[in-house]
Amino acid sequence: MEISNHKLKCKNGDFSVSYEESPNCSGPFANELPDTIVIHYTAGSSLSSSVNWLTNPQAKASAHLVIGKSGEIVQLVPFNIKAWHAGRSIWKGRQGLNHFSIGIELDNAGMLEKRADGFYTCFGKRIDNSQVVLAPHKNGREEKAWEAFTEKQIDAVEKICLILKEEYPITEIVGHDDIAPKRKTDPGPAFPLQNLRNNVLIGRADNHEDEASEQRLSAGIVSADYLNIRSSPDGNSSLVSEPLPKGTKLAVIEEKAGWLRVKVILEGWVSKKWVKEI
Ligand SMILES: [Zn+2]
Repeated sequence: MEISNHKLKCKNGDFSVSYEESPNCSGPFANELPDTIVIHYTAGSSLSSSVNWLTNPQAKASAHLVIGKSGEIVQLVPFNIKAWHAGRSIWKGRQGLNHFSIGIELDNAGMLEKRADGFYTCFGKRIDNSQVVLAPHKNGREEKAWEAFTEKQIDAVEKICLILKEEYPITEIVGHDDIAPKRKTDPGPAFPLQNLRNNVLIGRADNHEDEASEQRLSAGIVSADYLNIRSSPDGNSSLVSEPLPKGTKLAVIEEKAGWLRVKVILEGWVSKKWVKEI
């Protein structure tokens, strides 16, 4: 994919991109904008129904892109023009995010209703349990049910955000629920927003090394057979984990009276389902 004339174009058939013009937009962005991407779910029943609605003048709503469950992309508004996706919103002191941001809608039913025989969308379609994510919203406490996003959608969003960042001065990726927390729940907890931010704004893996090297004083390696790791620089304080075996790599963050505050550097693969994003 690439951007040409503020429109997404697919190269070598890597993605399907089509264009359906929406009248629901206003003039061009000011200089040095857009600098933010806002992620949404449509809460609609299908990609085509959402595209029909967002191109209907009565909707008074649009987005720059809508992404279907198979990763197919429909662009409604060129990226240099303001689309109407954010509504009343505020982020870091700036109001009305339509003036600053690109809006990406994902075809997804959003919050589901639990009935005796399973989970249903607000338009009455039953969603298979394998496609249901149970989690509280970050702006609420109660656990709710949400339709899962497809891997193809998540992959398409990430690729698009990377391309947008090359073309525009993008420094923020937020959810509609970040910029209008009282009104909106999209994209909600089923969408891996923090992952997307990390992968697009910070860059994969490399960044974490940068972060670690900024903070640490030096690196070390455990030379004892087993080394206790404690909660404070005191031989009587509690242990924070099993003793570290010989050869464990450490990043030294602080030194105090013969003690080192360290971070343990481990690298390996863990099952994603047991890791909670923070
Ligand atoms: Zn939204």
